[in-house]
Amino acid sequence: MTELPVPALSLVALVGISGAGKSTFAGRHFAPSQVLSSDAFRAMVADDETDQSASAAAFDALYYVAGKRLAAGRLTVVDATHVQEHARSSLVALARAHDVLPAAIVLDLPEDEAWARTEARPDRSFGRAVLARQSRDLRRTLKRLNREGFRTVHVLRGREEIEAATIRLQP
Ligand code: ATP
Ligand code: MG
Repeated sequence: MTELPVPALSLVALVGISGAGKSTFAGRHFAPSQVLSSDAFRAMVADDETDQSASAAAFDALYYVAGKRLAAGRLTVVDATHVQEHARSSLVALARAHDVLPAAIVLDLPEDEAWARTEARPDRSFGRAVLARQSRDLRRTLKRLNREGFRTVHVLRGREEIEAATIRLQP
């Protein structure tokens, strides 16, 4: 078991390609109300959690809610891929605007494993190329997370590390 220290008042970005296990991890370690997922917000604004054309509206709404939570001093976890720097930079900006610490928890599962899981899912229909692009984006920027402003960065490599991790909130 590995305890990951996370500041009790932080905005946590889960980072990982599709199928890496972000939603599973969020469900295991945080209360449902603490987790804002891009899928849930796509469904809210567009009736379809996979509708990528709804992403802009979905993230607007997600960040709005996250801002309300942070203003009230509530730990907030964002369940989205966050493999691209521009996606993470909006999250860092939001955290700073509310004077809370941005944290990143990276679930770095090998692409082959993530693909095997994704293929088995009825709620995912994109092709391998999409996953490959996410993987490339992540790989390219993984070392830059600290420089992007994340004060806490935890990188979990592989299924075993992901499964063995627990969260320790720090006052
Ligand atoms: P997405 O970005 O597409 O939402 P995700 O990172 O949220 O993906 P999950 O939905 O958590 O990924 O997991 C993907 C699939 O893998 C799910 O079907 C889930 O049940 C399965 N899964 C998650 N963790 C594990 C695990 N440790 N062992 C085996 N299967 C797992
Ligand atoms: Mg998910």
